[in-house]
Amino acid sequence: MAVEPLEWDTPLFQTAITQYEQALPHADVDAAAAARLRFPERAVMVSVPVRLDDGTWSVFPAYRVKHSSVLGPTKGGIRYDPHVSLGECAALSMWMTWKCALLRLPYGGAKGGVRCDPRQLSLAEVQRVTRRYTAEMMSVIGPQEDIPAPDMATNEQTMAWMMDTYSMQKGYAVPEIVTGKPISIGGSIFRNEATGVGVVMVVERACERLGWRLRDQRCVVQGFGKVGGIAAHDLVHRGAKVIAVSDFSGGVHASDGLDLEHVQRWVDEHGSLAGYAEADHVSNAELLELHCDVLVLAALENQLTGANAHRVNAKLIAEGANGPTSVEADTILADRGILVLPDVLTNAGGVTVSYFEWVQDLGRLFWNRNEIRARLGEKMSDAFDRVWSLSLQRDLSLRTAALVGGIREVAAALSARGIYP
Ligand code: NAD
Repeated sequence: MAVEPLEWDTPLFQTAITQYEQALPHADVDAAAAARLRFPERAVMVSVPVRLDDGTWSVFPAYRVKHSSVLGPTKGGIRYDPHVSLGECAALSMWMTWKCALLRLPYGGAKGGVRCDPRQLSLAEVQRVTRRYTAEMMSVIGPQEDIPAPDMATNEQTMAWMMDTYSMQKGYAVPEIVTGKPISIGGSIFRNEATGVGVVMVVERACERLGWRLRDQRCVVQGFGKVGGIAAHDLVHRGAKVIAVSDFSGGVHASDGLDLEHVQRWVDEHGSLAGYAEADHVSNAELLELHCDVLVLAALENQLTGANAHRVNAKLIAEGANGPTSVEADTILADRGILVLPDVLTNAGGVTVSYFEWVQDLGRLFWNRNEIRARLGEKMSDAFDRVWSLSLQRDLSLRTAALVGGIREVAAALSARGIYP
């Protein structure tokens, strides 16, 4: 039966659905499971009233979408951004499902956020947004139901406020309600670095398969936050050269390599790359077209599209962000022989160490850095190898192979459980 366009039917959700449909014929999924998994299970929209520091009030729309609870509790980030919408959360929640399943984590996907401009809010205002958002979502989140984590413009502090608000309502400390929180309240060592370091692990593995050495690569990184910043530093740490990075204010470029420690000090002091004097400035659009070997996309969705994909001058693209490449851009890049390491694989280090954090919290037993890094390496390599082999065996793009890997796991579980009632 045909379904009218639904409330979450936005271009980003359509991207997620198109990718799903491209993967389905290769995933051997029964028809009932295939139909079920096209839809998020639950979408919650609330409004968050917040008193601003000047005494006036703002009311922000906010969301939490859960795509699938077949494999376990749902898991996904909370973002604060002016573009947060139901469709964006729905698309991101679906990608989280495939990502968790591909990494063989006992989770389904979720995503949420508040539509606000965090750069216009003070820390105290962000705290009030966070506490009220958490209170509004009390009935749908929980350590066995849905476990939030940081995403765009949210961080350890945001997770600490969420954990505290949830715990105050329960009457006892519940560290396992969120991941990505400070170590002092049950956060995991290495969670902060996990996504960015995971991106570099995947890039390195791809280089090995392609017969390249990571240390010979010239890299460009879009986004200098929790994912892009860490990835850029780790690339340099592993011997590669980072020739350009960017943030919301634009990019900086030095063809013989940036001094990243110096760039980082500038950003820490001034809040952005704007005004950095030791390198050339480029716009974000120009940055995506720089000549390089590896282009890491670690900022936003929909950065490479039909309009600019034919001007990309990289050999390998690593998706640290979720959904940075449109379906049209994927086709253009494939035709041009540019390999794309897909988001559901490449940025999965974050949710993997989030899973380790949750397990440690539930067991009240904490692991050390070496153990966590080693376990992350094993998980990422195992997923990478499965995706790479499937892509070769069935002549699929790495994205389709990664989605097939994830979809098969969820669909097998759904078929075994059956669709209730
Ligand atoms: P963040 O807020 O820490 O960093 C985002 C970065 O992008 C900032 O440097 C910001 O200035 C920059 N940016 C914003 N607009 C930009 C623009 N127009 N052009 C260039 N740069 C711009 O967020 P993050 O956690 O690093 O998330 C980045 C992406 O990675 C998102 O797509 C997120 O969903 C994804 N992701 C994050 C994690 C995680 O663990 N944090 C895990 C998986 C995926």
